[in-house]
Amino acid sequence: MFEPISVRAYIYLYVANNPSEKKQEVEERIRETLSVALSGKKCSCGNPIWVVGGADAGHYCFTCITGETIPKDDYEIDEHLNYLKAQSNT
Ligand SMILES: [Zn+2]
Repeated sequence: MFEPISVRAYIYLYVANNPSEKKQEVEERIRETLSVALSGKKCSCGNPIWVVGGADAGHYCFTCITGETIPKDDYEIDEHLNYLKAQSNT
């Protein structure tokens, strides 16, 4: 399962762990990837894009980026998780 996190909280954590990164640039990458994910675009394998990983690695899913099948306490942006949840309810 993904651990939901807000864009703001994720950027805060990311910059804390990567002090050489500029907050504004991290936010731009996250927002760009999030908007692609929220447009309904999927990874080339058909899975939903993983926004927090995709911001660094490209528009791919968790499995294609990490090689692991199931997220284990990995973060994902809450807006994207809510979007996917709404999609699966329709
Ligand atoms: Zn994939």
